[in-house]
Amino acid sequence: MNEQIQLLISLQEKDTIIFELNEIIKKIPGRIEQWKQDYKVKEDQLAQMQKEKEGVEKDIRTKERNLQIVEEDLTKFRKKIYEVKTQKEMISLDSEIKIGEERRSKLEEDILKLFEANDELNNKTNSLSIELKKELAEIKKEEEEVNRKIELNTDKLNLAIAQRKEISEKMDKETLALYEKIRAAKNNLAVVSVKDNTCQGCFVKLPPQIINEVKGASHIVRCEGCVRILYANV
Ligand SMILES: [Zn+2]
Repeated sequence: MNEQIQLLISLQEKDTIIFELNEIIKKIPGRIEQWKQDYKVKEDQLAQMQKEKEGVEKDIRTKERNLQIVEEDLTKFRKKIYEVKTQKEMISLDSEIKIGEERRSKLEEDILKLFEANDELNNKTNSLSIELKKELAEIKKEEEEVNRKIELNTDKLNLAIAQRKEISEKMDKETLALYEKIRAAKNNLAVVSVKDNTCQGCFVKLPPQIINEVKGASHIVRCEGCVRILYANV
């Protein structure tokens, strides 16, 4: 076989490997990126819940202060009962005590509800925090694995690139230029084998004359269908 044809076959092999490795490297981080995005959504949810919890706690403090004021007022009113002189004053005081008591029971009810809401939020934030902590550890582990895979494939890629360079340096300038031109136009595939008298690039049946030339391998033969360089698959 003509040495240039042999080199063309090797060059194509390397370019195919380089293409595949680049695809692999590109796809490796895909899953973990999605995972990180999902994690971020949950993290935002947790922050939102914590904010909500702070709001509830603030409400509790405000209502507890108000309750204290109402209690103090009620104590004052009750003391006043002994100082009241007229019926009118008594009615007015009674009414104030009644309003105070209503406010007190409403505040107590509100505070109870807020405590319940706070408990629920506490449970939710706690379980989500635990979940996120666990997930983060898993993501870190996966990330290490991903980095290891990328490194491994990058080593393979660099080796293939170096080998490709060596091969291309042995080639005639015109042959290399032809190869690159076809490869650029034909989806990274410039050199294809012939199997069952068929071009493995475009699957067109080749005439006997071409088959003989390909088998002879004394010069470059191209497919009439897809213009790719052909070689006999022996
Ligand atoms: Zn073809």
